[in-house]
Amino acid sequence: MCPPDIAIIGAGYAGMAAAVTLAQHGIPSTIYEAGQTLGGRARRIRLKHSRHALDNGQHLLLGAYHTTLNLINLVNPNPTYLRTPLVLYSENGLQLHVPRISAPWHTLAGLMSARGLTVNERFKALAFMLTQQIHGFQLPYDLPLAQLLAEQPHRTIQLLWEPLCLAALNTPLHTASAQVFLNVLRDSLLGDAKNSHLILPTVDLSALFPDAAACYIRERGGEILTGQRVQQLQPEAARYRIGTRTYRAVICAVAPQHLAALTAPHAVLSQLTQTVRALRYQSIATVYVQYAPHVCLPRAMTGLHRTLTQWVFDRGHTHRQHGLFAAVISAPQQHHTDLAKTVVAELHQHLKLPQQEIWAHAILEKRATFSCEAQVQRPEQCTPWSNFYLAGDYTASPYPATLEAATQSGVQCAHKIIHSI
Ligand SMILES: Cc1cc2nc3c(=O)[nH]c(=O)nc-3n(C[C@H](O)[C@H](O)[C@H](O)COP(=O)(O)OP(=O)(O)OC[C@H]3O[C@@H](n4cnc5c(N)ncnc54)[C@H](O)[C@@H]3O)c2cc1C
Repeated sequence: MCPPDIAIIGAGYAGMAAAVTLAQHGIPSTIYEAGQTLGGRARRIRLKHSRHALDNGQHLLLGAYHTTLNLINLVNPNPTYLRTPLVLYSENGLQLHVPRISAPWHTLAGLMSARGLTVNERFKALAFMLTQQIHGFQLPYDLPLAQLLAEQPHRTIQLLWEPLCLAALNTPLHTASAQVFLNVLRDSLLGDAKNSHLILPTVDLSALFPDAAACYIRERGGEILTGQRVQQLQPEAARYRIGTRTYRAVICAVAPQHLAALTAPHAVLSQLTQTVRALRYQSIATVYVQYAPHVCLPRAMTGLHRTLTQWVFDRGHTHRQHGLFAAVISAPQQHHTDLAKTVVAELHQHLKLPQQEIWAHAILEKRATFSCEAQVQRPEQCTPWSNFYLAGDYTASPYPATLEAATQSGVQCAHKIIHSI
């Protein structure tokens, strides 16, 4: 059999989505991945403290992630996630339950019955949603979300909009893109009621999609080369050279901070290199805290307000990792010397979890996502080179840097190749 004629660089969710889509259409590909584990920024890790497979960062998906969920369901015959109606339960802040009724009443009823907001604050939130709906969730020009919310009561911003913005865009309110935020609201809260569902993985993030995708791709003639960082990409007689092989098309699905190393030597790609170099980044910290196995919270996901910790996930509910909690801090604005110690103290103070943990470990992903700021320039999937495409969560998309933006871009690149054949 001939080796594949399409190369994909990067086995994160974007690269794997592209390869699965090509495989579905009978087109095998070769995937080059620098790391040993598939999944990129959403991958399995092992810690010396634990026998469990953990993740480099706790992830949450929404029912609106249709592309991601369809791909997961395609390659993974076993159920790998829990799906629940939207419940935002913050121990000392907002409590919002979206009832199982049809759209858009589910969101409206959820907002009107939210605990933690006064009647006036709920009406103001509702009025904001309705105004945006009347305008089709479309702004004449993009602006920082804090400006769009200027008329909202301070507490509604603190309890509702700011946590939603950080969770969705991983970018602080004063710089976050209002248009991207509205896109997320439109598609998750005001579309089909199922779009607002919370999807919590019950397996690690490599098992959730990339590992199963790898089997699917190999069964259809593709290959995955791990531990292989592509150092150079050279156009050569209408093909692209990677190492000793050449390919008729390449999908580059590396994170934005790794793209310039491949594009910078090529003058024709200088605009693209500049656009990517101009992106700024936001970090996400995940602190794992292990207690005795009987320790649990009433729900899988609990919010905290006015604390460093924003969300706490009880992995006993989802991963059968009893007594293990993952505390998430999106876009932390300050450097914290002892994140784990602070989080353990907050879990004890606000959630009555034990004062003493068995072990705690903080993981700080410094470039978790690009900073999704108002009017940020994101490169298109097509580039000045024909048959050289970009996939990844940072490429042009209505959505912020999420698994869904990543998989959608991968699928789009694959379709461009399919249509060119
Ligand atoms: C801590 C954390 C929490 C997050 N939480 C959420 C969440 O709750 N929900 C959500 O939807 N999203 C979340 N995200 C964002 C989500 O993980 C990313 O949007 C998504 O994984 C990006 O996928 P990607 O394929 O575009 O890029 P990546 O995952 O970065 O994949 C790029 C791949 O390319 C490889 N690579 C790079 N250079 C080369 C090279 N030269 N040669 C070969 N391989 C190369 C890398 O090793 C990597 O595997 C979170 C991210 C982090 C870090």
